[in-house]
Amino acid sequence: MSFWSNPLIAWTEKGLYCQAGDFYIDPHRAVDTALITHAHSDHARRGSKKYLCTSSGLGLLKSRLGKSIQAEGIPFQQSFQLGNVKVSFHSAGHILGSAQVRVECGSEVWVASGDYKRDPDPSCEPFESVPCHTFITEATFGTPKYQWKKDSRHGKDIFDWWMENAEAGRNSLLFGYSLGKAQRILAELAPYAKRPILIHDSVVDLTECYRREGRILAATEKLSARVAAGEMAEGELLEGELLLAPPSILKDGWIDRLGDYRTAFASGWMVRSSGGSYGRGSYDHGFVISDHADWNDLNQTIDDCGAERVFVLHREGRLIQHLRKRGLDAHPVSSLTMENYPRLGGLNLRLF
Ligand SMILES: [Zn+2]
Ligand SMILES: [Zn+2]
Repeated sequence: MSFWSNPLIAWTEKGLYCQAGDFYIDPHRAVDTALITHAHSDHARRGSKKYLCTSSGLGLLKSRLGKSIQAEGIPFQQSFQLGNVKVSFHSAGHILGSAQVRVECGSEVWVASGDYKRDPDPSCEPFESVPCHTFITEATFGTPKYQWKKDSRHGKDIFDWWMENAEAGRNSLLFGYSLGKAQRILAELAPYAKRPILIHDSVVDLTECYRREGRILAATEKLSARVAAGEMAEGELLEGELLLAPPSILKDGWIDRLGDYRTAFASGWMVRSSGGSYGRGSYDHGFVISDHADWNDLNQTIDDCGAERVFVLHREGRLIQHLRKRGLDAHPVSSLTMENYPRLGGLNLRLF
């Protein structure tokens, strides 16, 4: 095993930085050139001079950061030159347009994964495995406790829950993140839903971005418009409807007039060690729907990419231990600094 003496991508106080190409990946602060893996707020931040992302993720990025940002969308797998390196985006399967970033310099290839998942998701492009020498992986669910069932039929499960509630005259309140999770739920429900799903205002624009990219989603109506119309009329505000919204709507004044309802949360955090789901906190039900790789898929991805060295972001302890036992050169991303990199060993080539 041998590595270049300088890291192709280093961990800095502004985030992952590629010196040879002079750009950052998902920087924490404003920089000149920011490559953005996807539009979630912990990855896409305001203030940078120039943004590069995927073509299908560009609408979402602008919806989040503002129309006036200087941003360019580049198709998946199309390589482009930045400084001394060749860069390309490869699907991460996390949300629409989410990317892994492949960086090539000389004979060395590094990949920074961003958030990713391998489960099928009708709302976004499928995950692509990208061969590399060094892999920087996120590991939100990097412990063996998190393993999802792979046979789950999310659309049918949610639809059945909705119908069961509707038959009892109850509304169904389903909570999930407004970007990614909400649109995935709408895509999963598309073959089943027979009437529009009521979506919160915060979900409306993002959902339109998905439709503009050709994603097939269940029909929707703006929740606030239906509530306003219902407030004019007598009796219960809504009956037998599915509402897709953030949990904060429970504090809205009109909720007292909603009539009977049940709540559920859709998230990977809903998993129980037995593999089943449970209603967490004050929710009546939990759907285990994750937009991140589980323990098995993290390991599968690391195997597939063939990397000799792996740097792990978030929850790194268990995964690093496990990878080292399997003979891989694994480290927390915090050790990927310019100063520390030579101490990791195995260096006998010069990059610059
Ligand atoms: Zn994300
Ligand atoms: Zn993230």
